[in-house]
Amino acid sequence: MKSSKYTVGWICAIKTEYVAAQAFLDEEHDTSSRRSHHDPNDYTLGRMGKHNVIIAVLPNGEYGKSSAAAVMSHMLHSFPNIQVVLMVGIGGGVPSARHDIRLGDVVVSSPSRGNSGVFQYDFGKSVQDQRFHHTGFMNQPPTVLRTAVAGLEASYERKGHRLRNSIGTALIHNPRLGRKYSKPSWSSDRLYVSEYSHRGKLACADGCSSDYLIPRRPRSEQEDNPAIHCGLIASGDTLMKDAIIRDTLAEEHDVLCFEMEAAGLMNNFPCLVIRGICDYSDSHKNKEWQGYAAMTAAAYTKDLLKRVSPMMSDSEQPPDEDSHSKSHQSQRVLIADFAYGEQESHPSEYLNTDGPYQDTEETSTAWIPDDRYQELRWGAPRINHWSHQDEDNQSTEIGEQYYYQQGNLIEDSPRGGLRS
Ligand SMILES: [Zn+2]
Repeated sequence: MKSSKYTVGWICAIKTEYVAAQAFLDEEHDTSSRRSHHDPNDYTLGRMGKHNVIIAVLPNGEYGKSSAAAVMSHMLHSFPNIQVVLMVGIGGGVPSARHDIRLGDVVVSSPSRGNSGVFQYDFGKSVQDQRFHHTGFMNQPPTVLRTAVAGLEASYERKGHRLRNSIGTALIHNPRLGRKYSKPSWSSDRLYVSEYSHRGKLACADGCSSDYLIPRRPRSEQEDNPAIHCGLIASGDTLMKDAIIRDTLAEEHDVLCFEMEAAGLMNNFPCLVIRGICDYSDSHKNKEWQGYAAMTAAAYTKDLLKRVSPMMSDSEQPPDEDSHSKSHQSQRVLIADFAYGEQESHPSEYLNTDGPYQDTEETSTAWIPDDRYQELRWGAPRINHWSHQDEDNQSTEIGEQYYYQQGNLIEDSPRGGLRS
């Protein structure tokens, strides 16, 4: 499939998240030769619901916003039709009296109190004087994603979600993942009072006193488990592992989650950040819940994509159909050759006047020179390939355009198509 057919970008920071994302693909595509020159990213391509998705991961051992920004930049260059970008993975939760956040829950970046959903803070500058240097709020994610989040929230509230079933199905299809990505036992979800830091080098169950555990009741059947929390995600350069600082920031800004990559993306291409909670951003951190938290985040993201219409996502068309598409980046667009051969083999596909191509004439006028437009407009069905040239004069195909004339029998027939 052409690179122009991929419209959803999905960025993971670590391998565990990458594996979880792949486990939710409905179909995996061949990845060979679909990237620009000099693109070092590793991609997994596939279909999730009605969307063609590109999943990328940060290089081994690299974390943080600059690495995430580099991966995104290459991705946008190799796949110029990306409409939405999702940063999906794990993060540290911020449990409070207001938000009953537990391990495996999902936090989705959502505007609250007039901000964008992602809040950048500079941890390094804050350590000495215990005050945070706030570098500000980031751009908002696209409206279509925010409305989908709201729609999904309403649906979950009324009917509950089936995320655990989706995870179960993904694990059945990927049996090797069972041990690392299944839900750990409920008793290993331990939340300690903020003042009590981790003791020694043993696991919490062996080294930390259960006297300092905050008692929480199990969730009832009527409650979503995992729960989905929409709100502010704090993004910084350093791992948050101090419960006191965590609580201060949570108190001041109502932060629900800490992570390290989103700040590198938001101002370049505003994205939605979805984080499965794998620890409580304190010194008791361990990796036991990372696999399952990555799965809950990916399962939620798949549900979210189901609510986003592919017509929107690709701006014009469902991903499995041929239609025209255009790049959101400013590029030199050329009209290239006409694919008569393809037309001859499937002429009827291009003659459906009830199809999604009805309005192409209007929307395409800005894209092609007038004289060429006239010629195309009055012709029978034609296919027109769009390409752009980058700095190295490499031509990359970015889409196709179809033209047809309605109301004239000969022009609307396969014979007319071939004649023209
Ligand atoms: Zn501990």
